[in-house]
Parts: sequence; C-alpha cells; structure tokens
Amino acid sequence: MEFSDKTLTCRECSKPFVWTAGEQTFYKERELINVPARCTECRSNRKERLGLQRQPITEVVCAECGLTTTVPFVPRNGKPVYCSTCLAGVRVQEEARRPSAAGASV
Ligand SMILES: [Zn+2]
Ligand SMILES: [Zn+2]
Repeated sequence: MEFSDKTLTCRECSKPFVWTAGEQTFYKERELINVPARCTECRSNRKERLGLQRQPITEVVCAECGLTTTVPFVPRNGKPVYCSTCLAGVRVQEEARRPSAAGASV
C-alpha cells in the first residue's frame, strides 16, 4: 500500500503540518496506531521542555567559598547559594544560632 503526504493539524499550535508518506511508512512499520498530534517544531520544543524539567541543573558560584558548583534547582534572585561542602557548614551554623529550647545561654 502506497502512502501519500497528509496534512494534519497540530494540537499544540493549531497550524497545519505535513505528515509525510515516509513518516507514515515508519509508523506502519512500527505498528503505531496514533497519528502524530504535533508538528515537528512543537514536538522538538516539547522534548526540550521535558528535558529541562527533568534536569534543572544550574551553574552557580558558592556564596561562601566562591567555587563554581551546580545545584539541582534554579536559585531565586538575591538568595545565596552554597556548594555542598559549605552548605553543610551553613546548616550547622543555623542550628547553632537558633535559640535552644532550654534558654540556658549566658
Ligand atoms: Zn505545532
Ligand atoms: Zn562553597
């Protein structure tokens, strides 16, 4: 059976796109029953977005020692970011600064 180019409408941007005969053959060979819902542009955009979501790695400079490090989140503006070594120290300091329940200072 011969395929011919089909024009489909993209679910994402509502623009018509061509589902080529070659792609249809590919789908048939893989026994894929769903026709593509998105144009190639939206498909690659989507892939990019999903990739970013999976790995939100941001390169930052540690506010304590100045080393460049990566963190698994996007730091907010103005918020100091520490490397894992300094972060451990900062956490200990914060613990120490917290008034103890007993109030036995001085
Ligand atoms: Zn599209
Ligand atoms: Zn550091």
